[in-house]
Amino acid sequence: MPTELILALVKREIAKRRKKALFIDGFPRGLDQISYSLFFRDLIGYRDDPDIFILIDVPETVIDERIKWRRVCPLCQTSRNFKLLPTSKVNYDETKKEFYLLCDNPDCKGAKLLSKEGDELGIKPIKERLKQDEELIERALSLYGIPKIFLRNSLPVKDAKNYIDDYEITPEYSYEFDEKTKKVKIIEKSWQVRDDEGKPSYSLLPPPVVVSLIKQMVEVLSLYPV
Ligand SMILES: [Zn+2]
Repeated sequence: MPTELILALVKREIAKRRKKALFIDGFPRGLDQISYSLFFRDLIGYRDDPDIFILIDVPETVIDERIKWRRVCPLCQTSRNFKLLPTSKVNYDETKKEFYLLCDNPDCKGAKLLSKEGDELGIKPIKERLKQDEELIERALSLYGIPKIFLRNSLPVKDAKNYIDDYEITPEYSYEFDEKTKKVKIIEKSWQVRDDEGKPSYSLLPPPVVVSLIKQMVEVLSLYPV
């Protein structure tokens, strides 16, 4: 869609939601520098309330693994991750010799979660989009006068002990099948990934990142209790 049209639609939606804080995710990509600034300025000046840019840094390896191991319930569409966010029930198929997740939703009566076609490729199909996102972030950074909140998904392993507790780290799960009891054992350990600079890192779970967002928002908007 042309930028002007998207801009008009976004403004119309903003106008409908008076006295509400809005979180706008996913600006149009692939614009030149001037279009970007016009786009931002136009939206930022549209309503007379504070604007904030929220920038999230997530290593590509994290995005890649989240896509590759994604599993979806064919009935209720619940999305989980075989390696990073399993359901409470994991089964083993003895003939296929593979583990699989069962949906936790009682309405689904233990439906098997499936991978979506193309997910096995990970970030490959969205590489170009990620590159454009990076450019978009650079443009946003160069806009003066608008407060920015920086969030990070990962932390180098060597610094982790000084800043975070174990329960804030995304665990990785693996599975073992006990031939005797016919039960699946779930093994959990802290997940280690290489960040974009190749440093061994931990990926944070969502809650600590949200806490960081709230803390910074209180500061940016000066919402201290009086
Ligand atoms: Zn389901």
